Amino acid sequence: MLARSSTAALAGIEAYPVQVEVDLAPGLPALVIVGLADAAVQESRERVRSALRNSGLRLPLSRVIVSLAPADRRKQGPSFDLPIALALACASGQLEPARLEGIWCCGELGLDGQLRPIRGALSIALAAQRAGARALLVPQANGPEARLISGLEVRPVSSLCEALEALQPDYTPSPLQPSSDTPQPTPIPVDLQEIQGQAHGRRALEIAAAGGHHLLLVGPPGCGKTLLAQSLAGLLPPLSPPEQLEITQLYSVAGELEQLGGLIRTRPFRSPHHSCSSAALLGGGSCPRPGELALAHRGVLFLDELGEFRRDVLNQLRQPLEQGTLRLSRAKQQLHYPCCISLVAATNPCPCGWYGDPEHDCSCTTSERQRYWGRLSGPLLDRIDLQVVMQRVPAQVLRQGYSASSARRPPESTACASQRIQQARLRMKQRNPGAGSNHRLSARDLRDTGAFSQDTLALWEQVMAARALSARSGQRLLSVARTIADLNGDDQVGPQAVAEALTYRSFTA
Ligand SMILES: [Zn+2]
Repeated sequence: MLARSSTAALAGIEAYPVQVEVDLAPGLPALVIVGLADAAVQESRERVRSALRNSGLRLPLSRVIVSLAPADRRKQGPSFDLPIALALACASGQLEPARLEGIWCCGELGLDGQLRPIRGALSIALAAQRAGARALLVPQANGPEARLISGLEVRPVSSLCEALEALQPDYTPSPLQPSSDTPQPTPIPVDLQEIQGQAHGRRALEIAAAGGHHLLLVGPPGCGKTLLAQSLAGLLPPLSPPEQLEITQLYSVAGELEQLGGLIRTRPFRSPHHSCSSAALLGGGSCPRPGELALAHRGVLFLDELGEFRRDVLNQLRQPLEQGTLRLSRAKQQLHYPCCISLVAATNPCPCGWYGDPEHDCSCTTSERQRYWGRLSGPLLDRIDLQVVMQRVPAQVLRQGYSASSARRPPESTACASQRIQQARLRMKQRNPGAGSNHRLSARDLRDTGAFSQDTLALWEQVMAARALSARSGQRLLSVARTIADLNGDDQVGPQAVAEALTYRSFTA
């Protein structure tokens, strides 16, 4: 007897429909799974067998063949347990086939028949809704995320027995739990009002937020690099509902949503440690999942102590930073994770940290400093449009921050700066609706819509020649100048904008 159930498998952050077919054939009792199933899916045999037995269901005394279709795409992970168990119950006459019609299901089974949460339930719910599923059975813990998809009936269940009950005609799904305000992946971004001094760094941060440019902060320990980085997410415009859903999907696929709860509404801020592996930063592994880069999608990736990161790991960042998509090749499949991020990298100016500081002596030799800078991947630096050298804030300026006197003028707040940034972004959008931000403008976009005056281009040409800049660096310079003009509310880019842009290119040729 043949029975079928519907589920989905993950590929990147999307899920595609998978049909589970179970056939009982004459022969010695055995359970065989076919259809490009990986090790975790193969282990499903043992889990399903025990779960059925411990849930009071019979195991058929025949040869059981389980097929996962389409057979040419690799299936990973334990989420097929529930659809296999239900199709098996159906094939052995313990569940009416009509009960599974139009129903999708997913979930990992424990040996006792309890259901464990899976990764990517949100993407599976989306696939079920698109396919016109009547309802979706998910493990209890995945219920809140699956219910983010409107137009799909979600039935959260905690065990195989409950799943069988949820398939009965008289079943009514439990009402939606009022979603409490869930923790978000980021602490609230630091407000610019909390940062004393650092005018140059603040301006660079504003340009980065407006134009989507990447930023490098160079300065001695304690000068406030981390605080500046932490304030960037707050300067970016609020996320649109489709962006919120996309980010939530990434966290669901990474298995990080359970701790966070429902919809992610704030821009992520990720700061991986410099000792992190290539898999942790970029994602992948035998059961592929997004890494820190993709988890920072539409938010900020902060790489503190850039020089301490492994060079080969940094080199792997170059292409995804350029394209906004991370492509991974894993056994027989190509995976894509979106990663449109704002990169903020920070580093000390030298190994001891004090080079250029007016009050401390640098104890490094010239060759030590050169080696240190050599470690910072040249090609990655070339992709960072804004490079800022910071000094420690003088005590006199810091003092003002603690002064209760009414004469104290607090630094400008994030809310104030955000208004300028929104205005600048609006100008960009009107000029280049497709590009998203000035950082993404091609050479052709810059030529056709950049509005550079002849004076500006003459100055730019001089700078290019005097500093022997590469064509790429020259283009980056123009795109930053365009953002500066947008922040200043200028239609045309004047020479001053190029001159200012040049102050943010200290390290690349
Ligand atoms: Zn030093």
